[in-house]
Amino acid sequence: MNVDTLRVSVTDRCNLRCIYCNPLGTHGREDAAGILSFDEICRVVRLCAECGVRRVRLTGGEPLMCEGIADLVRRLAAVPGIEDLALTTNGVFLETMAGGLKEAGLRRVNISLDAADESCYRQMTGFDLFPRVIAGLHRALAVGLAPVRINCVVMRDVNLVQVPVLAEMTLRLPVAVRFIEYCPTTRSTRAASCSVPNREVRERIEARFGMLSSVVLPDAGGPAVYFRIEGAPGAIGFISGRSSAFCHRCHRLRLTSDGRIKPCLHAAQSYDTRSLLRAGADDGTLRDVIARAICEKG
Ligand code: SAM
Repeated sequence: MNVDTLRVSVTDRCNLRCIYCNPLGTHGREDAAGILSFDEICRVVRLCAECGVRRVRLTGGEPLMCEGIADLVRRLAAVPGIEDLALTTNGVFLETMAGGLKEAGLRRVNISLDAADESCYRQMTGFDLFPRVIAGLHRALAVGLAPVRINCVVMRDVNLVQVPVLAEMTLRLPVAVRFIEYCPTTRSTRAASCSVPNREVRERIEARFGMLSSVVLPDAGGPAVYFRIEGAPGAIGFISGRSSAFCHRCHRLRLTSDGRIKPCLHAAQSYDTRSLLRAGADDGTLRDVIARAICEKG
């Protein structure tokens, strides 16, 4: 397995209360001393790059809540071996921050947007911030954070009816709209029956726009499978974690905000780099731990 991607969670805090992820909020979950500092993150990323990682994605929590995030981007963009720096965000702060992030070396962005109107957005996230996210999306396109991808978690009786409107964005904008199957977690409050198989999501899109044709996108090494509505500048992706396992195609490691390296989101096993970093471990010791996590991916 060629493990070339590292997802770095820079914070556990989030400003939204998405019903599939964080409905009760995260206030007080994270104590500042417990999370990795920028120096510590940069060191772990440098050592991961020495072990073959080429792509880094910053996530959270909401990464744009992390003070000084553009400085972190600038430092990570300069790590030898890192060729691709991306960010996953809810887009609320993107309108003001996109330019600075691009200038600092961010290449591309994924924006979570599960609704096509203000009322559904409020139901999904708990806040009236739909126009801010749309403004952030347009700003990201304007400053050249490319490709822009939109992540949409589909839930029955919540936003399923919005799927064709979200898919229609690909006829107007050069974006990839990706439909993600809802996976119940310990924090999400909705039942597993809310999950909609992507087969059904695709049927809804094809009923409105005709047969989708398969496309291969550059930078599409992840779990999504891509299609296009005929004549559309954008693409439609499906991430089907519940209806079809894609573990065999997963080439990512995760670094949690408190410094644990996880071979897999669902893995019980994790490797505590924070204790090692703070106990003065040398690079060789840390590299061994990273190599062990990589080996575990098989
Ligand atoms: N705050 C950022 C954002 O909103 O994009 C980054 C963190 S968010 C947890 C990262 C991604 O996880 C989002 O794209 C969201 O779609 C996905 N996600 C979170 N909980 C999920 C769940 N229960 N089922 C499926 N996808 C989920």
